[in-house]
Amino acid sequence: MSIRVAVAGAAGRMGRTVVRAVHGDPDLTICGALDVACLGEDAGTLAGVGVVGIAISDSASSMLEDSRADVLVDFTRASAAYQNAVAALKLGVSPVIGTTGMPAEQVVELARLSEEHGTGCFMAPNFAIGAVLMMLFARQAARYMPEVEVIEFHGEQKIDAPSGTAMRTLDFIHEGRAARTAVRPEREEFKLPGARGGDSDGVRVHSVRLPGYVAHQECLFGGLGQTLTIRHDSTDRVSFMPGVLLACKQVRGLKRLVVGLEHLLEL
Ligand code: NAP
Repeated sequence: MSIRVAVAGAAGRMGRTVVRAVHGDPDLTICGALDVACLGEDAGTLAGVGVVGIAISDSASSMLEDSRADVLVDFTRASAAYQNAVAALKLGVSPVIGTTGMPAEQVVELARLSEEHGTGCFMAPNFAIGAVLMMLFARQAARYMPEVEVIEFHGEQKIDAPSGTAMRTLDFIHEGRAARTAVRPEREEFKLPGARGGDSDGVRVHSVRLPGYVAHQECLFGGLGQTLTIRHDSTDRVSFMPGVLLACKQVRGLKRLVVGLEHLLEL
């Protein structure tokens, strides 16, 4: 039986791409659309797939009830994604959360609610397989090359920094990282505040925000007489869609919150 998918942020850049992808998947049916923009407009028309008969609503609870959704895909804003997921879990609808920047305590609360309701919940800071591989490779490299900096590049409208992908990459690097080896100056002089980027336990992170970028990241490893660069580029939002569709199909089989696409892949 087809899985019924509602999309939060359906008028946004990612949301429209998700509506298109769900519409094109024979195992999934688009059944509801939530946003604060384009209220009443048809989600399919906005997504460029023609009329699907699903109007954009601004009430998570009534939209989820009326649409009899199995899954709620969320690409909104950090301030909205938590409330949407709470509303979904209370109704037994499984959230698939792509929105980044959610505070850690809210993630913990979603984990608790997911277990309490026995309803699967899935979250990934990056749904692109290449980005997942970049993070896994970075963990491996950090074992042997512990001197590392991360540079992430996104479009000028991205709100949170560093990106969710960079934050998750830092977790992986810290997991794999051996003791540091480089001898650094006792005192650094900054002619501009922040010139060395953010500091995560000795790993510097730099966030670039410019028009033209979608989602890109480099992990730069330095060693004696050598450097290693692991780079991933999402040049189109369709790069995230196979991961999103996979999560829609698997999330109802989970009984708790799972974070990271690597847990759904056979790697
Ligand atoms: P976007 O184009 O700004 O779309 C977000 C949409 O959500 C907008 O239409 C926005 O409306 C709407 N929205 C805001 N508050 C809402 C609420 N309370 N309820 C329902 N809808 C609401 O942003 P985007 O580029 O699609 O990105 C969305 C999120 O996905 C960001 O957090 C981004 O970092 C993340 N992302 C994740 C991945 C991944 O692989 N996990 C990949 C790409 C992006 P207004 O514009 O009127 O506020």
